[in-house]
Amino acid sequence: MVVGVEWSVVSGQCPVVSGQWSGLYLWSLITSHSKLVTDHWSLATSQPPSANAVKDLVTSKAMAELLASALIRDVPDFPKPGILFKDITPVLEHPAAFQEVVDLLTEDARAKGAETIVGIESRGFIFGVPVALALGVPFAMARKLGKLPYDRISEEYALEYGTNTVEMHVDAIKPGQKAYIVDDLLATGGTAAASARLVQRLDGVVCGFGCLIELTFLDGRKNLPDFPITALMEF
Ligand code: AMP
Repeated sequence: MVVGVEWSVVSGQCPVVSGQWSGLYLWSLITSHSKLVTDHWSLATSQPPSANAVKDLVTSKAMAELLASALIRDVPDFPKPGILFKDITPVLEHPAAFQEVVDLLTEDARAKGAETIVGIESRGFIFGVPVALALGVPFAMARKLGKLPYDRISEEYALEYGTNTVEMHVDAIKPGQKAYIVDDLLATGGTAAASARLVQRLDGVVCGFGCLIELTFLDGRKNLPDFPITALMEF
């Protein structure tokens, strides 16, 4: 298996929907599938249950019902031969699926106590901005090298051949602020880890990382040991 310069080769796919589920996250997912709730849980309960309390109730059926899971499009050999690109654009063209993804990430970020949302260029912007607006918290950009106009800090991360760089403005994070990082996909974890280092260098606290898709065979979580990770879908 080859891990491309920026893109990860996906040799096959096995759609499962899972991740590290917070209580609120699970509550949101379950309440959107009310049959499960009425089967197993009283809707009269006013407080969301803990993650442990609800974990067993989230069946694979409920996971598979995540609208976006059927919409992710595999594009072989993009941007180079041998790479299977996970294209999220059909999700953006399906308002209910887009909304569902934003709602789930929002509830996860809320449960983690996010005080600001950091979006990783560029698809992390698409999903991160509505989360920030829904929570009423700031949005900060982690951008590719040379894109930000003001004073900035940089973090380099390794690719299979060479390196890549992400940058943030020096005032994007306030000291002690809890930052929830958003991207579309977790592959090797290099991009997310570099973005987390930027937050930490600005004296922020990374309270979580949320994404739509995790390519589990690349074990990106090993590069992100210090904060919780939520992936809405695994391939
Ligand atoms: P990584 O740093 O290896 O975790 O790569 C994550 C970043 O690369 C994300 O911003 C993704 O958008 C992008 N990426 C990596 N592999 C793929 C893939 N197979 N399909 C779509 N995007 C990918």
